[in-house]
Amino acid sequence: MLIVRLRNLLLNWTDSVAEARLYWNPVWRVYPPAKDDPNPYDTTNSNGEVQYDIAGFPPGEHTLWIVPKYTTTDPVGYWTAIGADVARIYRGLRIQLSIGNQNNVTDARVHSSTMDNGTLVAHVASVKEQVLDVRLRPMWIKSPYNYGRTQKIDMIVVHKTGGDTIGSAINQFLSGGTSAHYLVDRDGQVVKMVLDSQAAGHASHENDQDQSHWGTQTGLAWRSIGIENVGTTKQGLTDAQYQSLTRLIQELMRYHGVPRHRVVGHSDILTDGQGHLSDQRIACPGYQFEWSRLENANPGIGLARTGGGAGGADPVAEFFKSISLGGSPPPALRPGDHDPRMVGGKPRPGRFGGREIKDVTETPIKHLQTWLAEIGYSVGPADGQFNPRMARAVRHFQVHFEGRSDSDTINARTAALIRAVRDANPKAD
Ligand SMILES: [Zn+2]
Repeated sequence: MLIVRLRNLLLNWTDSVAEARLYWNPVWRVYPPAKDDPNPYDTTNSNGEVQYDIAGFPPGEHTLWIVPKYTTTDPVGYWTAIGADVARIYRGLRIQLSIGNQNNVTDARVHSSTMDNGTLVAHVASVKEQVLDVRLRPMWIKSPYNYGRTQKIDMIVVHKTGGDTIGSAINQFLSGGTSAHYLVDRDGQVVKMVLDSQAAGHASHENDQDQSHWGTQTGLAWRSIGIENVGTTKQGLTDAQYQSLTRLIQELMRYHGVPRHRVVGHSDILTDGQGHLSDQRIACPGYQFEWSRLENANPGIGLARTGGGAGGADPVAEFFKSISLGGSPPPALRPGDHDPRMVGGKPRPGRFGGREIKDVTETPIKHLQTWLAEIGYSVGPADGQFNPRMARAVRHFQVHFEGRSDSDTINARTAALIRAVRDANPKAD
């Protein structure tokens, strides 16, 4: 007796693949499935199993084709699962078997042509009870956490899962209350869980609280597509992930008409309910995430940092130059600093780098607040105060553009970068 058992490759529990068709030695191609397939086939039961009496099989090489009920050879994209309200879509698998003189399977392996589509463990030591444990790769696993959109898609949000396997993220999106549209695994394979036409729970979709914020917009889940990348908070992405992510985002940008500067990270937009950027997801996608790889793709993705116009005068650069005239390096601006201001009707000097500096008339903090807001970061009104809300925006800007996570201060280099990003992109809506 030979039992062929089909399960989901990416879920640890028994996620059986029912109603799949199995073809022995087909005389015609069966995958992708043709409409009028002339080949005889067997169908897996609700446990994902088919049992064969292989006593009549002649010794030698045999082929077993596994064709899931819902399957395609297309890559995962905006088209995946459109028009079919199904729970799972899997890839098909071709298996090569050797049958020995005792009418038993002596060896079984996945054929090289479908290597990416699944795995096989052959338990064939016993001649009487033989099991082929087949795991099929899903390309669509429907999440119950999908919502009717209230806005046209005009944003893409990049995430990192925080775990090192895709299974925990899939479980979260099946029963944990949150979801994203796409998951990119460490090997570059993509799984889709929510249709583009629906909103997913990846970027705070509450309308009444300021829990996600970009430019003047909040409630960003309603207008965005969320893409998760599998990785711990300390891991960077693999080359395969960057390649798949880039291809997927370019496809989504083209199809939905999302401009490159509207592709942002979760850490750029997650706010705490009062509009302050939240450190809860500062590691999503994290300081190791190499935005430069996406920026330099063709077409480019994400906020550009070069290519702005001539720019004109840069009052903040002038400010840093002017206060370093004494020869010592200019101080970095820090929380608690402020521009020169009127107090009780009298002019008071500005505070820069933690100390009052007289004779500065420029207002660098107000400029930086304005530029951060024009890029999209949530900083509140440009009041010339390096307040806690501005500090958060600075920290999250640096995670994105400088690959660091521990600084709320602005030196001349960071200031120049803020200015460059502001010049290189359209003003945030
Ligand atoms: Zn995230």
